[in-house]
Amino acid sequence: TERTLILVKPDGVERGLTGEILRRAETKGYRIAELKQLRASTEQLAAHYAEHEGKPFYQPLVDFMLSGPVVAAILEGDRVIEGFRSLAGTTEPTTAAPGTIRGDLGRDWGEKVQKNLVHGSDSVESAEREIGIWFG
Ligand code: ATP
Repeated sequence: TERTLILVKPDGVERGLTGEILRRAETKGYRIAELKQLRASTEQLAAHYAEHEGKPFYQPLVDFMLSGPVVAAILEGDRVIEGFRSLAGTTEPTTAAPGTIRGDLGRDWGEKVQKNLVHGSDSVESAEREIGIWFG
């Protein structure tokens, strides 16, 4: 079965939404294979966000991800990569569809769009790479 790497970002942890986010994944039918809370290191974030290096939002994004604990999980299930991204909704919480994690639980936009509660891998290759970064 397929695996994906998800992160509850510092805004989600601080707001006490970890359980709600994991509940949505579990009730959809995905299995939590691994789960931990941690403080991200700059090395982990440099690897995780390598594709965004050099973009204007890169450093604010890394600083935000360092600002508090994150929860990392490996989810398993049939087509879980696409399925979890569908649960998460589009990048900007203000306009993400109602029914999605970002659409129901967030309302940040503009330079605060980094506060979009959750990350989910976007392909089989990035899932395996990101699982390596966060779970070794
Ligand atoms: P993720 O990969 O985290 O699931 P995504 O695929 O919706 O999110 P990407 O375009 O890969 O979004 O961007 C990664 C993250 O960088 C976003 O989740 C968001 O937190 C942040 N980000 C993206 N675009 C911007 C921007 N213009 N300004 C600030 N932060 C941004």
